[in-house]
Parts: sequence; C-alpha cells; structure tokens
Amino acid sequence: MNKLNIDKIRQDFVILNQKCNSKPLSYLDSGATTLKPKSVVDAVNNYNSIGTANIHRGLYALSEKATNDYENTRLKVQKFLNANLSEEIIFTSGTTGALNMVALGWAQVNLQAGDEIIITEMEHHSNIVPWQMLCQKIGSILKVIPIDNHGDIVYAEFQKLLNSKTKLLSITHTSNALGTINPVKKMIAEAKKYNVVTLVDAAQAVAHNKVDVKDLDCDMLAFSGHKLLAPTGVGVLYGRIKILEQFQPFIGGGDMIDKVSFAGTTYADLPARLEAGTPPIAQVIALGTAIDYILDIGFDAIADYETNLLKYATKELLKIEGLKIIGTAPKKASIISFVLDNIHPHDLAQMLDQVGVACRTGHHCCQPIMNHFNILGTTRVSMAFYNNRIDIDNLINGIKRAKDFLL
Ligand code: PMP
Repeated sequence: MNKLNIDKIRQDFVILNQKCNSKPLSYLDSGATTLKPKSVVDAVNNYNSIGTANIHRGLYALSEKATNDYENTRLKVQKFLNANLSEEIIFTSGTTGALNMVALGWAQVNLQAGDEIIITEMEHHSNIVPWQMLCQKIGSILKVIPIDNHGDIVYAEFQKLLNSKTKLLSITHTSNALGTINPVKKMIAEAKKYNVVTLVDAAQAVAHNKVDVKDLDCDMLAFSGHKLLAPTGVGVLYGRIKILEQFQPFIGGGDMIDKVSFAGTTYADLPARLEAGTPPIAQVIALGTAIDYILDIGFDAIADYETNLLKYATKELLKIEGLKIIGTAPKKASIISFVLDNIHPHDLAQMLDQVGVACRTGHHCCQPIMNHFNILGTTRVSMAFYNNRIDIDNLINGIKRAKDFLL
C-alpha cells in the first residue's frame, strides 16, 4: 500500500501556510467543509478567468470546452461512485439540495398518506426536516431508528420498524456529529426484503472511503462537493435510472425542457430534466479536479492514515481528565465529539482559536443526538488526510490551557 507523503500533500493546501492568531493553523473542521487543494482552486480560477462561457447552448469554442469539462465531471463522478450510467448523476447544490430533491421530486409524487419513511436518530437536520415537511403535506409517517449510548443504531429496532408500509429508508452513511459508520450495506439488504427504496447520505463518507453504489446496492445517494475538496455550491444526487425516471421535475426553466409552447411543455431526458437553469459551472468542473486529486492519493492510503490519526487523537484526548467522548461506536470515521467538565463548548472553541486550532462546537445540525445524550452540544474534531500529529498536539495543548484558564 502507498504511504502518504504528508509533507508534500500539505504543500498543496495553501491555506495551511497561513497563521491564525499568530499561530500555525491546525484545521480540524473538515466535517464542516474540507480544505481545497491548489489544483481545485486553479480549476475555478481558470474557468472564471480564461474559460467563462455558459454550457450546452453555445456553438463557439469556449462554450464547447466548458460543456465538455462540465460533462466530464459527470463521467468522473459516475466512475467515482461506480454507477452504471452517467445519466444517473444529477448535479445539485449540495447534500441538502439532493435530499430535498428526492423529497419533492420523488417522494411527494410516489408516496401516499400512511406510507412510512425510516431514518435514524443520528441524521443531520437535512435528512430529517425535508421528510417532516413531506409528512405534513401528504400524510406519510416518519419512523426513527434509535441509537444506543455508543452512538450505534439499535439494529433490532430497525428490523422491527420495517413492514409493508415502509416505502423509503433514508440513512446517513457516516454521522457528522458522532463519527459512527453505519452498517449501510446490511441495512439496505434488509430493507430490500420489503421492496423499500433506499437513499444514503454520504456527505461524511466520500472523502474518507471508497463509496460504491453497486456494492451498497442503494437506489439513491447524496453528497456535497465541498466535503470532498471541491468548492461549495455543488453536490450530487446519484439515482438508479429506474428511480430517476419516476421523478417529476419540480424546478422548471431553461435546459430541462424538450419543447415549450403555450399549449404545454415536454421535458428533456435525464439528467438535464433535473438540472434546470444555469448550474454552478466552475464548481462542477472543480469537483472533477477534486476527484482526480483524491483518487491520485488513493483511498487505501487515506483510510489507513486517518485511522492511525483517529487512534492517536482518541488516545491523547482520553488522557485529559474530565473529557468524555460522545460517540464511541466500534466503526468510526475520523471524527471525535467530546464534552469537557462543565466548560461550555463555545468557550472552549474560542480558547482553541487563540492557539490556531479550528474546530466546531454546538449541535452540528443534529439536535436529536444532543437530546439523546442530554447535552447542549459538543466540541467536534474532524480530521482529514492533510492533518498531522502536530495538529492533534496543538489541540491537546490548547484544551489543557483552556482547562487551566476556565476551571
Ligand atoms: N448530511 C451530513 C451527514 C452532513 O455532515 C452535512 C453537512 N454537515 C449535510 C448532510 C448537509 O450538507 P450540505 O450543507 O453541504 O448540504
């Protein structure tokens, strides 16, 4: 297996050269958004500086190049996810955009009152609220798989929830607040016994492990570009072609039509049918560059490196008296949430910021998890392959300093 050349990798992330509060930056908030390597920044700049043109409509060289680059990303995403067809890749504004697209474009027209949707207690709000809104509108029913005190789903409860009324299982691959990696493949196989359509929120998975839609056998999957080294503003909805054909477009406009007259409109084929209007062209092109970058490093090396970093950070954090990790499932991504004595997470974050450590505090858009553990919020450290042990040591020293100051 290739080992990571971490020093070389860190040079690709220009942001890491800067000081934060006069201290070297230790960026430990990749769960919120990943840093962008220089090649991705260049891809955006190139489009905006020397490549600007709208796509799909222009018959001049610049427009053709932009169209090719845009569509090339679709092919890269198809390969990246191991999807059967490029038409199965729909560009969205992000994971939130993709999940809402499923709620409005598919579930709203294919589900009926009394039909059941299953999610887990550890979902991000973006995989809760769209279903609550839908249930209010059409009378479907939301069911929630509980989690245990380690932050794992209670599998037996999931099995009990499945029945002939279950129409959709929408679950996170990896929890952004706890780090738990769910047994998604097993859950999908279980759901298939009841012909349930399955949707995976892979927002926290795609930058850390190979995600293969054929292997998972999911019907749909969503992720955000900005959590995969790409810019904000772009995301992906993968859908098995048979499911995407059941979507009713819910945003009408340019690019998604076949013929328009006042007598009526017919729609374009997939994927254009679900991509109305001018898309975020630079961001989509840069998503392709981000995929090239991450594949060049390789997921085996990334997973190996991040697992070691997770072990090191967990070991060092647990040496701090009064620190409790929230989310101790055996299968975890490189995310650690914790509480510390009675120090408010926001106070801790501010003190960490003073020593150049950037991490997230609060409920992480997962208020039901915080209710489960009866806490207001956590401090969350989320690592990526460009982090090193110095970042972790800075974090540990910062926490010790905060403890001395605040307690
Ligand atoms: N799901 C999970 C698991 C996430 O971590 C996030 C982002 N924190 C989202 C969904 C929403 O992603 P976005 O804000 O990029 O749409």
